[in-house]
Amino acid sequence: MNPRDGATLVARTSSVEATQRLAAALASLAQPGDLVVLAGDLGAGKTAFVQGFGRGLGVGEPITSPTFTLVQEYVGRLPVHHVDVYRLGQLSEVIDLGLSELLDDDGVVLIEWGDAILPMLPADLLEVRLTFGVADDDRTVVLRSAGRSWLRRMASLVEAVAPWAGSGSSGAAPC
Ligand code: ADP
Ligand code: MG
Repeated sequence: MNPRDGATLVARTSSVEATQRLAAALASLAQPGDLVVLAGDLGAGKTAFVQGFGRGLGVGEPITSPTFTLVQEYVGRLPVHHVDVYRLGQLSEVIDLGLSELLDDDGVVLIEWGDAILPMLPADLLEVRLTFGVADDDRTVVLRSAGRSWLRRMASLVEAVAPWAGSGSSGAAPC
């Protein structure tokens, strides 16, 4: 398989807590230098995902939306850099974020709306795309690995996501 094509996994959740637990399960696979790109409309659950991911990495303090600060740092098993590029109007502002320094920091970088700046990001990343389902609290979470780093962990990813995996909305996933 060409790692550029990546591999895709689909999960479903029916509550914010379930999305956070799914994210925490994925965080157990996190390695220094990882990049996670969060995609999805406003209110889809990108920040909720980061909260669960941070909890999974042992971040003690509450993770809030970094919309106005652009980057927030948290201390966990690995440093967590939470970025939101929603309000960035210009390319220069993205450059000002110093993403390469953040990525070099042996932590994990999670970027909300990161799909908007994909051409500026390294080839190795995990894209998490959240979409709304039928019921208010239903979300579909599509995980796509790009590059070799996450592709290598695909078997572990499949295992971590297994409780929420499924192609139908009535699967046996714990919600
Ligand atoms: P975003 O960062 O994508 O704009 P947030 O994480 O800030 O979205 O907000 C998601 C909202 O949707 C929260 O109010 C959360 O409680 C709610 N929600 C309901 N169901 C879910 C779910 N299954 N997964 C994530 N969030 C959910
Ligand atoms: Mg958000």
